[in-house]
Formats: sequence, C-alpha cells, structure tokens
Amino acid sequence: MTESEINKLYFKEYRLKNKDKIKKAQNKYYLKPDNKLKKKQQAQKRSNELSDIYIKTCIKQYYSYKNIKISFKDITKDMITNKRNKIIKLRNEKISNIKICKCGNSYTRITNKKVNNMCTICNTNKLKKYNIINREHFLSLGRKNSKKYKENLSNTYIKTIIIAPLRKIGLNISFKDIPQELIELKRKELQTKRLLKNKQNGKN
Ligand SMILES: [Zn+2]
Repeated sequence: MTESEINKLYFKEYRLKNKDKIKKAQNKYYLKPDNKLKKKQQAQKRSNELSDIYIKTCIKQYYSYKNIKISFKDITKDMITNKRNKIIKLRNEKISNIKICKCGNSYTRITNKKVNNMCTICNTNKLKKYNIINREHFLSLGRKNSKKYKENLSNTYIKTIIIAPLRKIGLNISFKDIPQELIELKRKELQTKRLLKNKQNGKN
C-alpha cells in the first residue's frame, strides 16, 4: 500500500469514528446566516463561471443517478468540454423560453410538454379553485364507493384491511404484492365474522 492510500484509509476511519462530532460542527457552521449565504454565493459563482470543478460535480451527479460510481480522476478533458457545451446550450434554450404570465410573473415554457401558459402561482391557484368547487362531489363519490366496497367485500376493500396493520409497523407493501389466495382466505374470515355478528345480534 502506498502512503496516500494509507492516509486515505486513516481519514476514512477517523470520519466514521467522529461522524456525530463532525455533523454537529457542520450544523453549527451552517446555522450562522452569514455562512449559509457565503456557501450559496460560492455555489452561484461556480455555476455562473462553469468552472471545471462545477462541471466535474455535474458529471459525477449524472452518473450517480444511473448508479455508476466514478471519481474525479476518471473524468477526461473531452468529457468536461462536452458537458460544458451541453450546459451552455440548455441555458440558452431556457432563456429563450422565459415568458411573462398574465399576473406579471415570469415562467419557463417547456417545449416538449403540454403546459398551460401560466406561472406556477397561477397554476396552483387554478387547481385550488377547481378542488374547492369539486370537493363535495369527490367526497360523496368516495363515501358511496367505500360503502359499496365494504358491503360487497371487494378485492380492494380486503386488500386495504390486510395492508393497514402492516403499514402501522412500518412495512410498506403495495396492493400488487398481495397474493389472491390470501385475499380469498381473508374474505372467508370476514364472512364468518359477519355471520357470527348477525347471529349474535339476532339473539339479542
Ligand atoms: Zn401568473
């Protein structure tokens, strides 16, 4: 092992051992508003200048989304120039797509999507309005449907009953994962329970 490798290992161990300490120190540092602002300004500057380090982090991020781990050493100069040209092109496209909304705010129009000619604020307001108007309608629909599901012991209703206690203990299981056999068993259980309940009610 070379000296630098030994050093790396040592630092890794140190970082792991003092994880909480380092995190606390970092939090303390970033809690100061001046430092937060400084960090933001630094990032903005790097992004404006399109420095090599900024582009390298961009490339690394791009690969990490694809679950490929690369280090800064693996990034060649060609990769950097390519990425820089791509970013410049995208930014220019973005600038040409900036439009002004009716309310005066600016928004970016995305070319390959059907988007309303509205800023995000106007769009959310529109959605809110729609939801308020149609709230009662949707609620009544939901109530009607849930009642129907319960009476008929539909698959969906049984699935929700199976899933509820599992979710309570933190197990996230989707509807697809429940086998049909389990649903049938649960249906039988519920049917017998209902029969029992009806009989007892009849006696009282
Ligand atoms: Zn607007």
